[in-house]
Amino acid sequence: MAFLNELDSKRLLAKEGFEVTMPEVVSNLEEAKRAAERIGYPVVVKVFSNRIVHKSDVGGVVVGIEDEAALKRSYSEVLLRAREIDPEAKVCIQKCVPKGVELVVGIHTDESFGKVIMYGIGGVFVELLKDVSFRLVPIGEEDAVEMIEEIKAKALLDGFRGLPAVDKRALSCFLVKVSDVAQGKGIVQMDLNPVIAYGDRFVVVDARVLL
Ligand code: ADP
Ligand code: MG
Repeated sequence: MAFLNELDSKRLLAKEGFEVTMPEVVSNLEEAKRAAERIGYPVVVKVFSNRIVHKSDVGGVVVGIEDEAALKRSYSEVLLRAREIDPEAKVCIQKCVPKGVELVVGIHTDESFGKVIMYGIGGVFVELLKDVSFRLVPIGEEDAVEMIEEIKAKALLDGFRGLPAVDKRALSCFLVKVSDVAQGKGIVQMDLNPVIAYGDRFVVVDARVLL
């Protein structure tokens, strides 16, 4: 069993029809600049390393990079911090998407129950508050609706503090689709954390898949 890195995890998801921010792995600042031009500012600089799982905990994620000067700064900072942990760490560049509602969707395989899907709202707070719902895979749309309604923070979907409201029907379809994908291809675990929601659009900005 092996965890796919962010690039390969997102390739797998993109193939299944999910919208992702595809990272471009770069080897030096010149490549980083070219990648950012191609992708279009604003971009995100992220550490790319098999040994660093929680990237932002080590200062390995810089969002909202608007120009080349900021890119240069972030590139060096992220690389420097990462190399202290993993001398082979690289950096990747990806599109920075606007603020939206951050969702967490995961799949894990339970020894006695089999595959389980997990859903929660709120990015970093999900882990803190354990405000998540679970179902056995596969789920149907009604199960997905229940999962959405079980979350205490569900009002965040209605357009909190100027963020666009999340289309709950589209969200339930998204959850069903994750469950469907998780059934196949030897997938053992999937962490989509976060998925950023805008109305009926769901963009996976961080992903880790275990095959
Ligand atoms: P990790 O979970 O390993 O710390 P993430 O890739 O999830 O790293 O990045 C940390 C946070 O940065 C995310 O929760 C999200 O808020 C933000 N982020 C990451 N990638 C993007 C992106 N492409 N566009 C906008 N925000 C992002
Ligand atoms: Mg993450």
